[in-house]
Amino acid sequence: MKVAGVEIRGARVLVVGLARSGVAAAKLLAAEGAAVSVTDTKPLEELAGEAGARFVPQTVDCAAGHDLVVISPGVPVNAEPLEFARARSIPVIGEIELASYFLLGPVMAITGSNGKTTTTSLCFHILRECGIAAQAGGNLGTAACSLAASSRAGQYNVLEVSSFQLETVFRFRADVAVCLNLTPDHLDRHGDMETYVAAKGRLFDLQDPGGHAVLNADDAACRGYAAKAKSRVTWFSTSRALDSGFWHENGALLHEGKTFLRRAEIPLRGMHNVENVLAASAATFLAGAPLDGIRDAVKTFRGVEHRIEFVRHRQGVDYFNDSKATNVDATLKALEAFDGGLWVILGGKDKGSDYRPLRDLITKRAKAALLIGAAGPAIGAALEGTAPLVASGTIAEAVSYASRHAQPGDTVLLAPACASFDQFDNYEHRGRVFKEIVRNLPPALEENSAS
Ligand code: ADP
Repeated sequence: MKVAGVEIRGARVLVVGLARSGVAAAKLLAAEGAAVSVTDTKPLEELAGEAGARFVPQTVDCAAGHDLVVISPGVPVNAEPLEFARARSIPVIGEIELASYFLLGPVMAITGSNGKTTTTSLCFHILRECGIAAQAGGNLGTAACSLAASSRAGQYNVLEVSSFQLETVFRFRADVAVCLNLTPDHLDRHGDMETYVAAKGRLFDLQDPGGHAVLNADDAACRGYAAKAKSRVTWFSTSRALDSGFWHENGALLHEGKTFLRRAEIPLRGMHNVENVLAASAATFLAGAPLDGIRDAVKTFRGVEHRIEFVRHRQGVDYFNDSKATNVDATLKALEAFDGGLWVILGGKDKGSDYRPLRDLITKRAKAALLIGAAGPAIGAALEGTAPLVASGTIAEAVSYASRHAQPGDTVLLAPACASFDQFDNYEHRGRVFKEIVRNLPPALEENSAS
């Protein structure tokens, strides 16, 4: 098999960045007969050995002597060893690009700023419930390279793809490509919105006329993709009737003007989840799922952990974990999904975001904002004069405070608008810690008396 013009059997391939995708790429390459070296800024010799590869320290020239470089999505495209490789005409590709050479069966790829994991999981759930063979992975769960071995003709590969992964694709071709929305995120890495929009756009640039693009009619960047796309476009909208496609109107989800699902039947909170359901309905419909099958499957979808996940009802107060709200837009969606009475935990690693867009909904729906982590002071400054602000520092403090002050009917919501890396390994860790703290709150009076 030739990858980026390089015969893999016997080739010397360097994988940059280990983690899940890097390990998956190294294993695939080793199984295909390449001599694999891996490098990382951390000393991960053991992990490299397990993947059948040799570890080399990350130096500027560590790509010297290699025929091909494969990078993990976490590695910046302009990292010095990659610039070194490019200057010597050594091809540099992403893990998902590598996978594309080995994946059998059609590809359904889902991208966007928010909602990727929810929509990918939902697409997979719908396909399975409708009896259409599928496996899921990519940025979520199993890395794309790990899916190659179990892929087969006629079985859908449902892939969540991030903008980072799309920076290094050159022939990755999706049969059905979805973009949910584009809001400013990861600007610390992409630099500006234009570069970010262009990175996601590669998914559509690379499609051919036989492919389908599923795009959000309410989103300007998506409309830009449509103008350039060679593939056939199917639109969706949460806010207005369209000439054709999938949309939401007056509590009903419609396809070509016919209702196929009522909003009240969707078991997930918030209009943003209507967006995800519309996109998933369109994508799976194009893959052959019938509308009544889609409706039945949506009704049984349980959602994904850490996305507005219900944790506990205690003393009349609900606790929700939306640790995955790692940017301002996701937090706005979470706030919109509740009517009021919110005790919102905000803060974490500061990505340099503008937190002022939160002011309006915090004023209207929050009883207090509990500020944690490194970004706490910046968020506090941006929210001055909205709801009462409580400098809590940690999640434990914030939960303790909210649990003592919340009234029956209120909701305590972790939706931090920030990354977690100042106090946690990742958002999953943060969400698990929150859930544990909430579950360990002493039993409420009525729970005591019931026992
Ligand atoms: P991603 O994989 O793109 O990060 P997730 O499905 O994991 O998306 O959701 C990330 C966060 O964004 C969660 O806090 C979730 O509540 C919120 N969210 C989910 N879908 C959307 C959407 N369509 N628009 C905006 N926010 C969303």
